[in-house]
Amino acid sequence: METSAPPASERRHWKGNARREYPACRLSFPQKTRSYKLPLTDKFGRAITDLRISITDRCNYKCVYCRTGNEGAVYGELPFGDYLRMARVLVSLGITKVRITGGEPLLRKGVVDFVRELAVLRSAKGGSLDIAITTNGHLLADMAQPLKDAGLNRVTVSMDAVDPDRFARITRVPGGFDHVLAGMRAARDCGLGPVKVNCVLMRGFNEDQIVPFGMFAREERVIVRFIEFMPLEEDRVWAPETVITLDEILTRMAEYRPLIEIPHAHSETARRYRFEDGIGEIGIIAPVSHPFCGHCSRIRITSDGKIRTCLFSVWDHDLHELMRRGASDDDLAHFIRQVVSRKEQRHHIGEPDFVPASRTMVHIGG
Ligand code: SAM
Repeated sequence: METSAPPASERRHWKGNARREYPACRLSFPQKTRSYKLPLTDKFGRAITDLRISITDRCNYKCVYCRTGNEGAVYGELPFGDYLRMARVLVSLGITKVRITGGEPLLRKGVVDFVRELAVLRSAKGGSLDIAITTNGHLLADMAQPLKDAGLNRVTVSMDAVDPDRFARITRVPGGFDHVLAGMRAARDCGLGPVKVNCVLMRGFNEDQIVPFGMFAREERVIVRFIEFMPLEEDRVWAPETVITLDEILTRMAEYRPLIEIPHAHSETARRYRFEDGIGEIGIIAPVSHPFCGHCSRIRITSDGKIRTCLFSVWDHDLHELMRRGASDDDLAHFIRQVVSRKEQRHHIGEPDFVPASRTMVHIGG
C-alpha cells in the first residue's frame, strides 16, 4: 500500500527496476510520536521547507516538451479538504512555502477557496505561509485579483515564446498567447509579484526566443526564467542535444546585453542575473548542466495524494491511503518523516544508468 509503481497507462515510460535507493517505506501505524517540534530533514541533512501540491493532472495545453497531446488525466483528484489536511500536517513539520500546481491548477473549480484556506495556516514558527501558484496563465486574467484577495502571494506563468505563432506551435493550442499575456499582466498589476515567467527551452523549437525574452523581461517588468529541458515529458523525445544549457543561454543573451550574476538563496532553483544597466532580471534553472540537488528543499504531493520526494522518484508514497484508513495527524506526521528521511540524494539525468521517473511532469506537478 505504502509505495506504488505507476498505473499501466504510465508504465510504458517506466523501467522501474528500483536499482538504486528506493526501498519500500513500510508503514505501520506508529507508536505515539510527538515529532512536531523537530524540523523535517532528510538523511543528507537537507531541511524540507517547500511543498508543491498538484490539484489536478488535467491540462488545457499540450506543450511539446511536456505532453503527447493525446492523453488526458491519468490520476485522480482529491477533495480540497484532503490536500488542506496534508498541508496542515506538513506545515506543522516545518513547511513554509506552498506552491499550487498541476496539470493546470486554474482548471480546478474551488482553487480560490483553497488558497483562502491555506492562507489561514501558520508556519511552525507562527508566520504566514508563502503561497504561490504555477499556471499556464490561460485563465489567469479573470482569476488574478480573486486569488490575490484570497491570500496568494506570487504567480509563476509558463510561457515558452513571445511570438504568438511560435507559442501556438509549442502549446499546440491556437490563439492562447493573448490570454496568457493578459493573465500575466493582470497578475503583475494586482500585486502578485514579482511575476516569474518560466520558459522551457528545447532545441529546434524556441532557442531563438532567448533574446526576445530578454527584451520582454525589461519591457514587462517580470522575471523571465529559462528552464533546461528535463527528461520528464510524455513523448520521450529528450536527448542531451535537445537541452539548451545555462552556458548557451548566457552566450546568446550576451549578444544582446551582458548579464551580471546576482546572489541567490541556496535553496533557490534559479541562478539570478541582471542586465548590466540594472534593468530586467533573468533566472536560469539548470538542473541538467548545473544540478542543485544538494540544496533541494522540496517535496511534492500529487493530485491523487501521493508524496514524491524527487521529480525523478521511481516510487510514490501513498499519504492519502493512510488518511482513508483513519490515520491521525500524528500518524501522518510519522509517515511523512519516514518518507522524507529517504529522499533521493540526487537525480541521474544523462548518466548511463538513468532510470526514468515513474510519472511524467504533468502527472507529478512541476
Ligand atoms: N500548467 C502549469 C504550467 O504550465 O505552469 C503547471 C504545471 S507545469 C507541469 C509546471 C512547470 O513545469 C512549467 O513551468 C513547465 O514549463 C515545466 N515543465 C514541464 N515539462 C518540463 C520538462 N520536461 N522539463 C522542464 N520543465 C518542464
